Amino acid sequence: MENMENFSDTTNAASAEGNNFITASVKEDLASGRFDRVVTRFPPEPNGWLHIGHCKAFCIDFSIAEQFGGECNLRFDDTNPEKEDDSYVQAIKRDVKWMGFDWGDREFYASDYYEYLYDMAVKIIKKGLAYVDDLSEEEISAYRKTNFADKNNITETLPGQDSPWRNRSVEENLDLFARMRAGGFPDGAKTLRAKIDMKSPNLLMRDPVMYRIKRGFHYRTKDKWCIYPMYDFAHPLSDAKEGVTHSLCSLEYEIHRPLYDWFIREAEVFPSRQIEFARLNLTYTVLSKRWLLQLVQGKHVSGWDDPRMPTIAGLRRRGYTPEALRAFASQIGVAKMDSVVDMAFLEYCLRQDLNKRAQRVMAVIKPLKLIIENWEGNRFEELDAVNNPEDQSAGSRKIVFGRELWIEADDFVEIPPPKYYRLYPGNSVRLRYAYIITCAGYEKDEDGVVIAVHCTYDPSTRGGNAVDENGAPDNRRVKSTIHWTAAAKAVPITVRVYDNLFAVEKPMNVPANKTFLDNLSPHSLETIETAYAEPLLAHAEPEDRFQFERLGYFVRDADTENGKPVFNKTVGLRDTWKKIAGK
Ligand code: ATP
Ligand code: MG
Repeated sequence: MENMENFSDTTNAASAEGNNFITASVKEDLASGRFDRVVTRFPPEPNGWLHIGHCKAFCIDFSIAEQFGGECNLRFDDTNPEKEDDSYVQAIKRDVKWMGFDWGDREFYASDYYEYLYDMAVKIIKKGLAYVDDLSEEEISAYRKTNFADKNNITETLPGQDSPWRNRSVEENLDLFARMRAGGFPDGAKTLRAKIDMKSPNLLMRDPVMYRIKRGFHYRTKDKWCIYPMYDFAHPLSDAKEGVTHSLCSLEYEIHRPLYDWFIREAEVFPSRQIEFARLNLTYTVLSKRWLLQLVQGKHVSGWDDPRMPTIAGLRRRGYTPEALRAFASQIGVAKMDSVVDMAFLEYCLRQDLNKRAQRVMAVIKPLKLIIENWEGNRFEELDAVNNPEDQSAGSRKIVFGRELWIEADDFVEIPPPKYYRLYPGNSVRLRYAYIITCAGYEKDEDGVVIAVHCTYDPSTRGGNAVDENGAPDNRRVKSTIHWTAAAKAVPITVRVYDNLFAVEKPMNVPANKTFLDNLSPHSLETIETAYAEPLLAHAEPEDRFQFERLGYFVRDADTENGKPVFNKTVGLRDTWKKIAGK
């Protein structure tokens, strides 16, 4: 059995529930009186579908709120008109809900705060702490002196240089800012910048842009605005507006924290506190909406919910359960150091869950005909099969046995290699839930391909509870049990077998002349047009999950192909993680 000890070295961080550095900070803030309640938020930008990295983030956001009897807001951070869309809002809501989290009526949009954000900007201008700048975007970064490379190619940061417009009067700034809003200037002609410190070692503090002019159609505010607030300004003030106490985000925002605190302080608003945790990275995939969008737009996958995608919708269609994803999020914990989690660990969490709940069935995905020569006529017989050995309450079902069966082509060879215990001429195996059979011969077509296997069965070995002629247990041993379906009763199904989307562990590691797309695996999808399954699979509903005995876990897809229901392979039975951990 798989056991948790194998994972001691991947779970160096405390679990997301219980004690970790975030809960410690929150406790401290409550004890010191800094806050008297806990409010967190999950702030996706609606510019793509959520992936498993977001899933980690909102599991933390919701679970911290829950642990302290607080609230978690769902806020759409929609301050970028070009890339955002209502279809993404709907997809995000659907996925968070499916994961089992409920934000109630706490659904917010940064775009609802535009008027408030504008007022806050005016307040900061009035304090002499923001100015309208006429420099272009390129000039602004040149004046910042970012990443100066000297002749030895050593990157050094020089002090920045003030913009010639930095010392405009408050009155002039107020007037220009109002005219920016009123549409008096073309796109990019002016910006509003915070007046902080052009010599700060943190480049983000070198007079960051607060507003830009951009005539873009926003999916909610339409063309009401032609100026849009930048993330670093909008985010802390949106948190403050909602009374968010703990603004939890991934580690790349750590360097933004001084700026977060600066805007909160200077706007004199609710003192939200930002705390960072490690970003999730996974092997064999990419976790950024930007790259995922490229996969979708380039038709490298069938869509955001392609079962190979690390999106929540893709994982769902692949057969993942919310419980498995939550267990994964909880067990990887909330470390303060970025790391790459092994895909095999995610699969381990999934198997742990499916093993407990998935109905077992038999299906043959590379079919070969098996004929039982001594079977009496064309009669069929009903046998009992266990629905789930891990769950007594799942009960059993009847399966039909007959003269002609399908078995896996792999379960027969003409000449056995060493340690091959399945069918070959003269050898015996047990047919799962049925009888012991002995291979009597086989047939080939003109090309030498085996097209049928012949055998005899032993009627006294029925169901595995065999007794000999005298009623004593039959101690005959066979070394192998194989699965099968009755040819006349089986339903044809189509099976999609998936492998990692990328052929390498770290797809973003590429030489200069290549892109991550060059790392796509050519073997990530194999379609098996016709497999044969127990009749009950004809009635499976989309998202019904099964274990195909000996093959792995499979889920009914919503698709039907050429009249055949499609099943996606979720994950194999073999615990590859255990092997890796053992090394
Ligand atoms: P992407 O690069 O995929 O677009 P993002 O950070 O730009 O990610 P947002 O929609 O802004 O996407 O993210 C919403 C929240 O999810 C943020 O608080 C962010 O910290 C968190 N988040 C995003 N990706 C990850 C990840 N891989 N691991 C943990 N948290 C993440
Ligand atoms: Mg983002």
